Amino acid sequence: MTTIAANLQAVRDRIRAACIAARRPPDSVRLLAVSKTWPAAAVREAAAAGQQAFGENYVQEGIDKIAALADPALEWHFIGPLQSNKTRAVAEQFAWVHSIDRLKIAERLSAQRPDNLPPLQVCVQVNVSGEASKSGCLPEEATALLHAIAALPRLQLRGLMAIPEPTDDPARQREQFAVLRRLRDNLDLELDTLSMGMSHDLEAAIAEGATLVRIGTAIFGERQYT
Ligand SMILES: *Cc1c(COP(=O)(O)O)cnc(C)c1O
Repeated sequence: MTTIAANLQAVRDRIRAACIAARRPPDSVRLLAVSKTWPAAAVREAAAAGQQAFGENYVQEGIDKIAALADPALEWHFIGPLQSNKTRAVAEQFAWVHSIDRLKIAERLSAQRPDNLPPLQVCVQVNVSGEASKSGCLPEEATALLHAIAALPRLQLRGLMAIPEPTDDPARQREQFAVLRRLRDNLDLELDTLSMGMSHDLEAAIAEGATLVRIGTAIFGERQYT
């Protein structure tokens, strides 16, 4: 077994254990493998080990990798900050966007989504930590933004996404994930996705209702930024 295949299995085992601990069905959480900074060969290795959904943060890197792999069985999720001059490539190449934090970006994605593709699956990113530097809309802005996005023709609104302030304190992790869950619970919209939980906090996220965890380091190893 390759390292990536073994790591993937270990992550699947963690997800299963966290679901059991939370008395949730083990198949109620999807695994998104975050392949940012890793080459197409690493994605191929994970795909050979049964992984289907991959997350990318940078538009150019993502579309280069999508083209290099040219595998229609793979599902690509854009999870990074998105500027309005980069929306077209994302609307044309990705299946999901998790990181919408303002209406202008959503409107452009809807207008630019090609007619021959299914609607773009989207989540609204919410700032759950209260840090001024973090991207995401404020929790009190989310309801209006979600209703406006739900009316856009070429987007399918799936749920909410958050990147909490990193902390090793499980109680603080859960507190931040709970902000996202409560927001979802109090909405008058049917949202099936809570995109939350990364390598170091997926257990807390699943305990608070995550339906999709975004895992990079625990699958591919430590990223090197040069
Ligand atoms: C990089 C990244 C991840 C993966 O983080 P790990 O700690 O490597 O698991 C998840 N979500 C987003 C938005 C990211 O940018």
